[in-house]
Amino acid sequence: MLYSKMFIPTLKEAPADADTISAKYMIRAGMIRKVSSGLYEYLPLGFRVLKKVEKIIREELDAIGGQEISMPLILPKELWEETGRWKIYGKELFRLKDRKEADFCLSPTHEEPITDLARREIRSYRQLPVMFYQFGAKFRDEIRPRFGVMRAREFLMKDAYSFHADEQDLENYYSVIFEAYNRICKRCGFVFRPVEAASGAIGGSFSHEFMVLADTGEEEIAWCPCGYGANSEKAQCLPCENTKEALEPLQEISTPDIKTIDEVSGFLKIDAAKTIKSIFYLADAEPILVLTRGDTEINETKLASALNADGLVLLEENAVYKIAGAHFGSLGPINLKQKIKIIADLSIDGISNAAVGANKDGFHLKGANYGRDYKADMIADIRKVKRGDICPHCKKEKLQFSRGIEIGHTFKLGTKYSKAMGATFLSADGKENLMQMGCYGIGVSRILAAVIEQSSDENGIIWTKNTAPFEAIIIPINYAESKTKEITDSIYRELTQRGVDVLIDDREERAGIKFKDADLIGIPYRITVSEKTLLQGKVEFKERKNPKEKFELITPQEAVEKLCGRQG
Ligand code: ATP
Ligand code: MG
Repeated sequence: MLYSKMFIPTLKEAPADADTISAKYMIRAGMIRKVSSGLYEYLPLGFRVLKKVEKIIREELDAIGGQEISMPLILPKELWEETGRWKIYGKELFRLKDRKEADFCLSPTHEEPITDLARREIRSYRQLPVMFYQFGAKFRDEIRPRFGVMRAREFLMKDAYSFHADEQDLENYYSVIFEAYNRICKRCGFVFRPVEAASGAIGGSFSHEFMVLADTGEEEIAWCPCGYGANSEKAQCLPCENTKEALEPLQEISTPDIKTIDEVSGFLKIDAAKTIKSIFYLADAEPILVLTRGDTEINETKLASALNADGLVLLEENAVYKIAGAHFGSLGPINLKQKIKIIADLSIDGISNAAVGANKDGFHLKGANYGRDYKADMIADIRKVKRGDICPHCKKEKLQFSRGIEIGHTFKLGTKYSKAMGATFLSADGKENLMQMGCYGIGVSRILAAVIEQSSDENGIIWTKNTAPFEAIIIPINYAESKTKEITDSIYRELTQRGVDVLIDDREERAGIKFKDADLIGIPYRITVSEKTLLQGKVEFKERKNPKEKFELITPQEAVEKLCGRQG
């Protein structure tokens, strides 16, 4: 491919609204352009990378029996009503009407249509297991589209769905998918971690996120050298170590204008771990009181799942006043005006003589003890993991924290969708059973941004070998000169024949400009052909990822062999 024939509109400056390294470089390298918030065009270079990533994923999924299909992007409301997600998806769902005023949406994901296909077409256990996958646009009206293609409103996803006759078969296949995802991440050249994750709107019993480690990642992950890893939304907390002391009597103390945990612990001269945070929520319209130790935070994802609640919102102050008889800052589990359900975090267990709000404005209680003075209806792990927490798996090491970009998500769905939509099959013993399902997504377009977030320098992108739009670029200093052209073309021919993707920068530009563009675009290997080095029968060979290293002077044949021998 000749540079002069390709549309590569590189820019010196990124637009002001490009908010991450990857967004800046993808625009500057002429890979993408922004059409509107969260909507992008992929120009030829960007499109080539999408296709490279697609190829890796397709090969890995075909290797584990996946069958590629394509489903419509416009989907009828009726399917989404069967699972309740027409409502649950809320504003993230792009909705539209046809000319007959019938409701449709633009697909944000495809569990409903694939389950519909399965219930229509799969009748017998003999047709199971089966895994379908597709590459296609997904539409989500994100609250904050940002970071270029990382969080877009239309993006390219690979989604896959598997159907099984029983739970064991799903379980087995989940590990097969898990390994395939590991291979995909490795082939993309990622430093990554698969972590346990919360299931969110897609639902199901068990899920993993594949996180590419990058300081700019939106997610936080907690991990341990023992192998444990979890999204910090999900990371399990062990009970806290609380010192048990002789019980003191409950004592009311005037605490005028003392409201926050910091103010209470400062005023009473006690550690925040000796206080209790009391927060009122509405869980599916039922008011509840949630307690956690003063130095910890409530994790609403865990709380909702402990309660099996779909909706969880903070209760507003007037409603709280009616239940507790006090305003924010003086709330606690003792002396509530109305009896309501109390949910306590594990960290509450064993705090002796704690300070809590007295449910009387301007007062706190000291010496509050669980069991004697208050009780919870449920004790569960509902707090956020924090620095200093011990790994819940090995129970020895302290958890470590890193930021990550979620590029893939696997879910063991079980019968969540097959039950809601009646996807059954006849088992070997003639019984009508629900299909067991798994679903597995990869943000193909997000992978582009993730590679760059993990691999770039001040000069531009550094693509990994398998994701690069071209593996190598040949830069003839003067392509019009006959010897230079002859050698350039012969290297190109041989590399192309041996399956290496090469670009020749045949432009009549200064060498400096060609080098700058090659660096910005991020092509992993550069071969420079000049009259001067050809006098010794040599060309310059340079790896993009080692900008400080000088080029090697080698023969054209050695350059070809080097490139053909490279792995990963
Ligand atoms: P996130 O937590 O980042 O919003 P999600 O949990 O909503 O992701 P899934 O529904 O699991 O994402 O979608 C599968 C994959 O699609 C994700 O792992 C991610 O790589 C990608 N993805 C999700 N939302 C977007 C988006 N708005 N833009 C680009 N890629 C996305
Ligand atoms: Mg999302």
